[in-house]
Amino acid sequence: MSKQEAYDFFCQMLENNSRIAKEKQELLNQHTSGQKPKVALITCSDSRMPLALYGNLEDMMGNVFVGKDIGNTSSDSDAVIDYAIQHLKIPVVVILGHTDCGAVKAATGNFDDETEAIKKRLSTIKNTFTDINDHIKCVEDNVNDSVEKITKQYAQQINSDSLCVVGCVCDTSGAYDENQCSTTYIININGQKDRQTLAGHELIKNITNTQLKENIFTK
Ligand SMILES: [Zn+2]
Repeated sequence: MSKQEAYDFFCQMLENNSRIAKEKQELLNQHTSGQKPKVALITCSDSRMPLALYGNLEDMMGNVFVGKDIGNTSSDSDAVIDYAIQHLKIPVVVILGHTDCGAVKAATGNFDDETEAIKKRLSTIKNTFTDINDHIKCVEDNVNDSVEKITKQYAQQINSDSLCVVGCVCDTSGAYDENQCSTTYIININGQKDRQTLAGHELIKNITNTQLKENIFTK
């Protein structure tokens, strides 16, 4: 990637912002005094994980509180999660991993030469793996570990039904289904991973689109 291409792209982003800010003043004006987001999303910094996969500006504005880091681990986003739950009182926290995750892949290899910050992060991810040779399993283990940690820390909120922690995987690389790239699957709710138990959860029951309901779990 040349610096010129990057300059061009960033200038395009600024132009987009200027245009969107002009066009959407009515919407944006409704959010000038504060935020009351519905969902906290902890996901990977990977550029193939844009919020645009989940909705447009109208959908996202004021509704999604986001923490992004390499490998989407809860321990790297502790402050985001604590702030989301304790201060913003967000009822749904989503840990969203993805297939072909560079951080997860790097954690399966030798990362001794990386910086201290990267080593710390990759070690955290590596500690979750149950099968280092299975990339999907590693991605899922990493998500499940974060859900488990939050579920433990905020057991009281979960038991009193004021918080739901959801573990998801977005299939960036089409690893689960090559014809459905970037489809999102639910793999964990409040520490529960069993399909039948998940299917009975009120969040899943809340899905009215039958096709989505059928495809919300991995095959
Ligand atoms: Zn990633």
